[in-house]
Amino acid sequence: MTVPIAKLSFWGVRGSTPTVDPATWRYGGNTPCLELIAPDGTQFILDCGTGLRMLGSRWAAPNGGKVPETHILVTHYHWDHIQGIPFFSPLYVENNEFQFYSFRSKFLGRDSLKQVFEAQMALPYFPVDMSAMSAKRKFREVDGGDSFTVGENKITARWLNHPQGCLGFRIETPAGTVAYATDNEPGDAKLDENLRELAAGADIFINDAQFTPEQLETTRKGWGHSSWLEGVKVARHTGAKTLVLFHHDPDSTDRMVDSILRQAREEFDSVFAASEGMVITLGAPGDKVQAHMPGTRTTLRREAQFHAKVCGVTEGGKDFEEETMVRDISLQGALISLKHLPRLQSELQVTMEAPGADGVQSMNLRGYVVRIDAGPEKGHVAVGVVFTD
Ligand SMILES: [Zn+2]
Ligand SMILES: [Zn+2]
Repeated sequence: MTVPIAKLSFWGVRGSTPTVDPATWRYGGNTPCLELIAPDGTQFILDCGTGLRMLGSRWAAPNGGKVPETHILVTHYHWDHIQGIPFFSPLYVENNEFQFYSFRSKFLGRDSLKQVFEAQMALPYFPVDMSAMSAKRKFREVDGGDSFTVGENKITARWLNHPQGCLGFRIETPAGTVAYATDNEPGDAKLDENLRELAAGADIFINDAQFTPEQLETTRKGWGHSSWLEGVKVARHTGAKTLVLFHHDPDSTDRMVDSILRQAREEFDSVFAASEGMVITLGAPGDKVQAHMPGTRTTLRREAQFHAKVCGVTEGGKDFEEETMVRDISLQGALISLKHLPRLQSELQVTMEAPGADGVQSMNLRGYVVRIDAGPEKGHVAVGVVFTD
């Protein structure tokens, strides 16, 4: 008998609005979109933020055959959770079938999500007419408290505490349970209980961690979001196994998210900060939860050999220090001193010499000139390049 395995992929992890600031690049700037492939092959998509576009462009039918129906759960109608819909290319392919789930908003009434589709694509907000969206679309209304099954999987919806309402979802698969609770502020006894029900014993508990605990108590109180500390408390209380901090603030730089993650890890054993491109496998033999960061977020790489000293913390939490060799290095850019004055926004061929096992090796790179300043040496300019390949 094969072991059931589920795969959870993070396509968008940023809250409120997409970011393209390079300081937010490592965790990623796309707004919420997750994909869960259950062991029976059922594909779930959680939220339709801008991350949905990339999921659409990587779209491939499993086993190359006809795509089975995809189930899309939408937590609520704020921009950051729906904005990817018009840019999701599989919706424009006739043979595809989608089953959408969301709640009846008191502001929209019947067929809320269907109306959201139409409103988003109405003139003059979008150039393409709804009629071009030829995939089959079905809409199902879900209320907090509802439970239903799709294939071998059980889905539970619960209300969370957020302006204009938001649903949290719990998906139980034979490989493990994922609780998805984004856009939620603690402090309402009934809704806090809902969150605990969603998270109870979950293998993966994805929780809103937009603000710091200090912000949540002061300037951001009432904004409808949570903090890493609240996530840790719920995870502890409910026996959730792994906590994933989610819905990063658009003003949080990668360094700030690093610091949030570090603090959470001091309080709870298994914590990750959601990161675009991250894939979590559930149910794999050995380690029940495995997180991977595929190469998609890494930059240009070159083989090299440099002596290095590395200090860090082991998986078990102990400090270590080790002498080693760097064998492969990623390169983003360089500041080069030149006598010539290259043209701004032009390309430079850069050949650098790097120490190698068999003597000096050359590293060929193509640099794109992004800045030119007066150099420290007389008659030279300092040329900033970004390496492109
Ligand atoms: Zn949001
Ligand atoms: Zn929201």
